Amino acid sequence: RSALLAVEDLSVAYTSRGVQRPAVDQVSFTLDRGETLAVVGESGSGKSTIAQSLIGLLPAGGNVTSGTAHLGDRSADLDLLRLSDQSMRPIRGRRIGLIPQDPSNSLNPVRTVGWSVAEAMRIHRRGDKRTRQRRTLELLERVGIDDPERRARQYPHELSGGQRQRVLIAAAIALEPELIIADEPTSALDVTVQRVILDLIDELRTELNASVLFVTHDLAVAAERADSLLVLHQGTVKERGPARTILTSPQDDYTKRLLSNAPSLLSPPDRRPVPQTDPRFVAVDGLTHRYKTGKSSFAAVKDVSFTIAR
Ligand code: ATP
Ligand code: MG
Repeated sequence: RSALLAVEDLSVAYTSRGVQRPAVDQVSFTLDRGETLAVVGESGSGKSTIAQSLIGLLPAGGNVTSGTAHLGDRSADLDLLRLSDQSMRPIRGRRIGLIPQDPSNSLNPVRTVGWSVAEAMRIHRRGDKRTRQRRTLELLERVGIDDPERRARQYPHELSGGQRQRVLIAAAIALEPELIIADEPTSALDVTVQRVILDLIDELRTELNASVLFVTHDLAVAAERADSLLVLHQGTVKERGPARTILTSPQDDYTKRLLSNAPSLLSPPDRRPVPQTDPRFVAVDGLTHRYKTGKSSFAAVKDVSFTIAR
């Protein structure tokens, strides 16, 4: 595998009311082609700041204070952190696709779904109108939208959250980017939809041989989806490496703490097995599942028993 993205010593600070406060401090990582790297950390650790600085979309007051981020061939010397707005434009959407966090606010409410999917193709002057329309329907179909022709003419408010996120994914991959940046792509969705959307991103990564920079606060999800992890705490990298290595032998105390807060990674829930000969279809007997946060622990599910008959 070869590196697609090499970030070195990235530091970002926010200035508000004349005071500069660092948000990301000397972060380095590489992302290989076809690889998924999860940036994991609690709220405020700097995950979105990293993602936004790579695509030139830092909010007002945010400034890159050091570092380089090379995309693609090193000899091309394309440093994402040094690009002007105008030089970033041909890259965003074409080489880097962004899947945003909140599907409700990320689609233009007064434009049809089809218009939004075709946006990158229009900006980058890809094909004529008919070609773009055909490709839009293909993309909607690919991301699992039923009846794409009807849906393409609808407005975002006519779709569910999960469908809107599929639409945003279709828009992000329209020009087959090499790098997909997904900032908490499922945090606004309910659990069953989350899984489907993450599966879809996985499939598309394989199809396009794209790399995915996956931002999440959920270590369990990161562990399941990513090849490598970057554990972030207060803007600094606490640990970095193959997901499996970090999960089985975390080196840093902060990572250990994160792990102990993700009980599903450490021990299976306390559950008595269902006897093989039991005529009932599902029998849960005395299921208890505890979560630990810091020093305290609480039972989310306590001594639950039920059966579902065949
Ligand atoms: P979350 O999980 O809540 O999305 P995050 O890991 O994405 O958190 P960031 O949004 O990158 O964290 O924020 C990192 C730090 O930068 C925080 O201390 C935050 O308060 C600060 N910050 C973020 N955006 C701004 C802004 N627009 N102006 C000033 N400070 C900001
Ligand atoms: Mg964030």
